[in-house]
Amino acid sequence: MLRMVNVGHKSLADYHSIISRELMAEIRELAAAVQGVRVCHVNATSFGGGVAEIMYSLVPLMNDVGLRADWKVMFGREEFFNVTKAMHNALQGDERGITEDERRIFERYNVLNAGGLDGEYDVMIIHDPQPAGIRQHSPLSESAKWVWRCHIDLSTPNPDVLEFLRPMICAHDMTVFHMAQYVPSGDIPDPVIMPPAIDPLAPKNMALSAEDSAYIVNQFGLDAERPLILQVSRFDPWKDPLGVIDAYRVVKRRYPGIQLALVGSMATDDPEGWDFYNRTVDYADGDPDIYILSNLNNVGGVEVNAFQTHAAVVLQKSIREGFGLTVTEGLWKARPTIGGNVGGIPLQIVDGQTGWLVNSPDECADRILRVLDDPEEARTMARRGKQHVRHDFLTPRYLRDWLGVINRLVN
Ligand code: UDP
Repeated sequence: MLRMVNVGHKSLADYHSIISRELMAEIRELAAAVQGVRVCHVNATSFGGGVAEIMYSLVPLMNDVGLRADWKVMFGREEFFNVTKAMHNALQGDERGITEDERRIFERYNVLNAGGLDGEYDVMIIHDPQPAGIRQHSPLSESAKWVWRCHIDLSTPNPDVLEFLRPMICAHDMTVFHMAQYVPSGDIPDPVIMPPAIDPLAPKNMALSAEDSAYIVNQFGLDAERPLILQVSRFDPWKDPLGVIDAYRVVKRRYPGIQLALVGSMATDDPEGWDFYNRTVDYADGDPDIYILSNLNNVGGVEVNAFQTHAAVVLQKSIREGFGLTVTEGLWKARPTIGGNVGGIPLQIVDGQTGWLVNSPDECADRILRVLDDPEEARTMARRGKQHVRHDFLTPRYLRDWLGVINRLVN
């Protein structure tokens, strides 16, 4: 019923040259106190989007330091994911709520998944709203502790949908949010703040030479000699790919050679993706310098890495954003990075220091021009951005934070 995801192996020791000795020691100490603790993560998809991305590193590292961690993906059909996408939009502030019918569909699938959940665990970590109702219906032993891990911005939610969700959240022992301002007001069990992180050793983030990345980008038909603006993200209105195209068009007037790549995989739990993909293609209006690519063009982790390493400017022009791992990824590659001034992006981009924060397509175009006009300044900022990521947003720090939480829950 729920599907176990095979995540392979990773070794914390491989990170010793990337992170500080203090952090490594802290992880070892926290891990020593939770050896053999059985942990199960549950989420809605093993492919596409930030949550899946994080899990492929976190779960094997949890196992490497001595936990017994599993990752299970809940079962759902299109009718369920249509509801959860509407909920997701509403929780990020969309006025459209969810109907009685949709509530029933949501509950039916959560009851079904609760029934299908087996195994013995000490700590259950439930990611995002889709499986949030499992706890209430689960037959698993009462001794297990349940954590609800929220990856989205709940600071200005549609109140009806938040209240629908609240009793489910409150059935957990603890909650985890990216940022303090994401914790909704009212009753929320024991909120802990923990921003996510990227894995510097994953194919998506490992060091790639300029030659190799240019070669890969060239395979997709782009001209590696001409500058490239890049945005990597799901085809979703909140990511504002149309605004990105507007900004690109302004830049094109001064830099006629500029190219734009919009790279976006289709997540299996995002039925709106195709609609918005088509809208984006229409909006690009056949411009031969705009490349719209997806996993259907075989853009996997290494290819995303190559695009990010090669880009003259990395954008994440979101108008709502949970955290924005693509920003972390761009900064880690020391690329000039421009992001929407929303959600977790300002945690990562200190405006004018490690990149630029923007509030409109025009501002975005202005900052892109600035990067192209003064590459030296842009490089200096990008190097600072990389240091910021090294310190705060790499997987070992995230692992340490989780070990802290698990210690609190079981000891
Ligand atoms: N991603 C990818 N291929 C794509 C689009 C996105 O690998 O075509 C990855 C991207 O590199 C990042 C994650 O999916 O690691 C997206 O996470 P983010 O926090 O930016 O956004 P979310 O999708 O979770 O809203």
